[in-house]
Amino acid sequence: MKRIGIIGAGIIGTALAYHLTKCDDVDVIVFEKNQIGSGTTAKSAGTLCLIDDSLPYEFFKQRVTCLNTYKKMNDDTHGESEFIKSGTLVVSPTKAEMKRAKLHVEASQLAGFNAKFIEDPEGLVKYLPDLNSEGLLGGAWTPDDGYNNPTAASLIYARWAREQGAKFITHANVNGIQTKDGVVTGIQSSKGDYEFDTVVCAAGPWSNKVGALAGIDLPLVHTKAEVFILKTTEPLDYEFPILKYPNWYARSEGRAVFVCKSHMAMDYGKAIETGIWDPDELSLSGGTEEYFFDFLTDRLAESVPKLLDAELVNDWLGYRSVTLDKLPIVGESDVEGFLIATGMSGNGVILAPDTGRILTNYIMND
Ligand SMILES: Cc1cc2nc3c(=O)[nH]c(=O)nc-3n(C[C@H](O)[C@H](O)[C@H](O)COP(=O)(O)OP(=O)(O)OC[C@H]3O[C@@H](n4cnc5c(N)ncnc54)[C@H](O)[C@@H]3O)c2cc1C
Repeated sequence: MKRIGIIGAGIIGTALAYHLTKCDDVDVIVFEKNQIGSGTTAKSAGTLCLIDDSLPYEFFKQRVTCLNTYKKMNDDTHGESEFIKSGTLVVSPTKAEMKRAKLHVEASQLAGFNAKFIEDPEGLVKYLPDLNSEGLLGGAWTPDDGYNNPTAASLIYARWAREQGAKFITHANVNGIQTKDGVVTGIQSSKGDYEFDTVVCAAGPWSNKVGALAGIDLPLVHTKAEVFILKTTEPLDYEFPILKYPNWYARSEGRAVFVCKSHMAMDYGKAIETGIWDPDELSLSGGTEEYFFDFLTDRLAESVPKLLDAELVNDWLGYRSVTLDKLPIVGESDVEGFLIATGMSGNGVILAPDTGRILTNYIMND
């Protein structure tokens, strides 16, 4: 029997618990210091797009697998994960972005999805009537993708994992990682000590702290992820798709519009955008700053001016946990038996199903 402890019940920890408990002879316990899916996962846009420049083309297969996995989850639970098939409009302001979008359109078609590149910028307005297409070179339209509610998806994964034998201990803060001769032997938590053969850090932006408990300095920083929820005075008479510009994006949020700066646009050299902060100090809403307001106002003025008059009905701040190359850290560490699944940057939701599968294979075939 393999005893595995997971620290963190966000989308990564719950997906991993689900995949691990599909295997025989495992004893899986997930420790969550708050509630399931209440960390970064709860602040996420949950976009599951076929075309996105934030991961290299090599990750395209994972995008497809994970999008299909989430669609199936939504079908199997009769809509419980709140997947909205909104489609995504990826606009191309430059030739480089146009080239990338075309490559992904071709790959999406080969993978069996509807996708097309619209060469005439005015043709983009069909998909987003309030778009100002001036200055754009065209754009890609993928009608089969969309977004889900990542907290709902985490709760589903947790329920499925429990049904397969996993145990979730919530409001349990892991405050120590026990090792002997460089090998993990267990954890200490506010709800008791436990012995394990393998411990996985799935602690999102808390991973620096959790890594330090095992004496590991993870190469991670935080970037700010600020969100505005905007409501137009007159309700929009069309469904707002996911709209992707290279450095910001938007999607519908009920009758309102969710707008966020892309993690690719965050400047690692600017202390206001990148640093190492304490995620425990984040609150459920508020926390956005003036610079972000200015950034978005400028972007909206040139792209969807109608939203400039919209009322700001909510805002919040989250931290993305990022590595310097903006790619995740998944696998072993210098402490034997202490594994890492973090640094998901702006892609933790879309990557979670495959991260769970890959890490399960690694742990079970070790
Ligand atoms: C505004 C915003 C928009 C985003 N949009 C997208 C998107 O469109 N698509 C996408 O794929 N990704 C998106 N992301 C990124 C995505 O949300 C994250 O990558 C993902 O949620 C990370 O999940 P996680 O499970 O690693 O971390 P979290 O969800 O942060 O989970 C970590 C958990 O660990 C727990 N924990 C921490 N320390 C301890 C401890 N010592 N003991 C016990 N428990 C502990 C925390 O309480 C927390 O619940 C977005 C992020 C933000 C902030």
